[in-house]
Amino acid sequence: MTTRPVLLIHGGAWAMPDDAIPAHERGIAAALHAGWSALSRGGTAVDAVEAAVTIMEDDDTFDAGRGSFLTRDGRVQLDALLMNGADLRTGGVACVERLRNPIQAARLVLEKSPHVYFVGTGAERFATQNGMRLVDNTELIVPRERQRLMDFQRAEAAGHPDTTFSGKSEFTTPTHTPGAPGPASETWDDAGSAPSTRLAPFTRLAPPTRLEGDGLQSVHPAPAAGALAPGGALVEAALNAEVLNALPDELRLTDPTLNSHDTVGAVALDQFGNIAAGTSTGGTLSKAPGRVGDSSLIGCGCYADNLSAAVSLTGWGEPIMKLVLGKWAVDRVAAGATPQQAASDAIAYLYSRLGGHGGIILLGPDGQIGLAHNTPRMAWGIATSTGHHLGITRNS
Ligand code: ASP
Repeated sequence: MTTRPVLLIHGGAWAMPDDAIPAHERGIAAALHAGWSALSRGGTAVDAVEAAVTIMEDDDTFDAGRGSFLTRDGRVQLDALLMNGADLRTGGVACVERLRNPIQAARLVLEKSPHVYFVGTGAERFATQNGMRLVDNTELIVPRERQRLMDFQRAEAAGHPDTTFSGKSEFTTPTHTPGAPGPASETWDDAGSAPSTRLAPFTRLAPPTRLEGDGLQSVHPAPAAGALAPGGALVEAALNAEVLNALPDELRLTDPTLNSHDTVGAVALDQFGNIAAGTSTGGTLSKAPGRVGDSSLIGCGCYADNLSAAVSLTGWGEPIMKLVLGKWAVDRVAAGATPQQAASDAIAYLYSRLGGHGGIILLGPDGQIGLAHNTPRMAWGIATSTGHHLGITRNS
């Protein structure tokens, strides 16, 4: 029996301005098309993820491939990871400066190397030995990003640093006396397990959200979290997106300095019943050369295992890394949570432990999806046998 394929992708989660929405929608639609073509031709989940991510790397709109944020010294430095949930084979590259499509280099590592991860010039050498072409770093830079870096560094020099990636001193590890009542943000235990009573705060529904760009003015009560069946109606998927923002008020965005997180990612389920995940990024604006974020680190910004789920994250990388959040989320699915529940919990946990902001997509081997973010907006798209749907969900 063949499985009905599913492809779920994201194009970043951040305070996306209105005028950036059309470009994101176009990019997401093109990536869905490419990934879905691979799946409908009988390709694997790995093929679909690679195809979808490649399109978004090639699109200047996103912080991946050409058009990425620049490092402090004005260069593009890229990270990507690709993981096959069928056999856990994985390929990652980081700090590459001369590859147009790092997700393709990650695919080569996955398939042709006994190793899992290459960095810098070693990664570039491995890629060229396996047929990839090197480009000049300037080919990856767009004028918009030169300007953005200049503005950022000017503001920093004037004593107005962007604090998006600086960490927040008020977010210290919560201390909780066992048995004592405490706010939701203090109730997670060290194992990350949350008894059902503790889950309650994270299942409270947010006010209805409008799904922009999809023609739906959704004001219906949200269905149960994680209700999307494989190949289920896309309207159901859209309504399900209301659940995606099911974060309590105190976990919604409070930081007005939140900047762009345009990392891209994809998770797919193929007709053979296998899942895969991929994430690709240019990292954070004005990052120190050599800095690696969560996106390409196994279990942090990306993970896939047929026994649990496939996941891709975007957002402020350092807190995501500290919590190994991708693995945290798929482990919850393995423990019985729906992907939607695990997605909502992961974002709530990210914020409650470390004040982190970001977005997550999850896909189980049964085709159930999850998506959540605590940023003002997140760009995403889903393709199933019943059609394609994209949305820019907005936290009100
Ligand atoms: N997570 C990425 C990083 O920290 C940034 C992003 O998602 O936009 O490198």
